[in-house]
Amino acid sequence: MTRGYVGRFAPTPSGPLHLGSLLTAVASWLDAKSRRGRWLLRVDDLDTPRVDREAEPAILATLEAHGLAWDGSVHRQSDHVERYREAVDRLGARCFACDCTRRELRGLARYPGTCRARQLTREGNALRARGEIAAPGFMDRVQGRVDMGGRIVGDFIVQRRDGFASYPLAVVMDDLAMGVNNVVRGADLLDNTAEQLLLMGWLGIEPPNYAHLPVILEASGVKLSKHNRATAIDNRCAPVNLAAVLSLLGFDAPIDHVETMLAWAVGAWDIARLPRAASYAGFVAIGDGFVPSRAEYPVTSGQATARIARTGLRTP
Ligand SMILES: [Zn+2]
Repeated sequence: MTRGYVGRFAPTPSGPLHLGSLLTAVASWLDAKSRRGRWLLRVDDLDTPRVDREAEPAILATLEAHGLAWDGSVHRQSDHVERYREAVDRLGARCFACDCTRRELRGLARYPGTCRARQLTREGNALRARGEIAAPGFMDRVQGRVDMGGRIVGDFIVQRRDGFASYPLAVVMDDLAMGVNNVVRGADLLDNTAEQLLLMGWLGIEPPNYAHLPVILEASGVKLSKHNRATAIDNRCAPVNLAAVLSLLGFDAPIDHVETMLAWAVGAWDIARLPRAASYAGFVAIGDGFVPSRAEYPVTSGQATARIARTGLRTP
């Protein structure tokens, strides 16, 4: 029996979606739907200090406003903490307790192995897995061959001091449990993929297919993120937002109702048309959202608004 395509979108509920996270959502949705696959939604809510209670409903409302329906119910990492503890147990002697503080490790390119032989108690300490040389690399559907040959992955945290799983461990175990076999996400996570591939190798897990999308940078060169308070998506401008995102993905979509635009884009979707780059650069905030400002991208806010006017939809 073939499982078929299973993809996912996994936002962190630390704030509302911005144009960068909408781009990831749209690309992963289109990739799944063009393959007649399932698209699952997982709220990555393990990083409790960053979780904002109002963020999850806002994220779900934005996905709905943009026609991005998910299959099944919403998954939440916080419901599966036992899953991560079992994985840590399976890693066994690959893990060691570490009490190094962030301050002590500041400025170091890699963890220097300080606590490897100290036999610290696991209670109240973080757990690190012993790093090693990364696998040679993998074939990424957007970035092409990603070469990691010879790269030494430092000892990385699998369980934080507060007992919660680290990001790479949680992602690996969640994707496995959810049957995810295709991951479409931002290229800012390429680095973390080395740790995830090591974990999968140790735990005997087959890696998914990867597609790492270019991330949207602000004009200043910084990645759009909740940290730098990227403008939240305005759901009232859903067709314009969708046109801007589709434009970045290489599609000059006719502006219409979101369902019509998405149906068109599913038919036209070709992940090979995405730029093979780690980032889109040179974006500026205009009005209610971030829109492409560079001439090579077909949609500017003015063009989008003009096209909305022609289609008779209400402009924001
Ligand atoms: Zn340490």
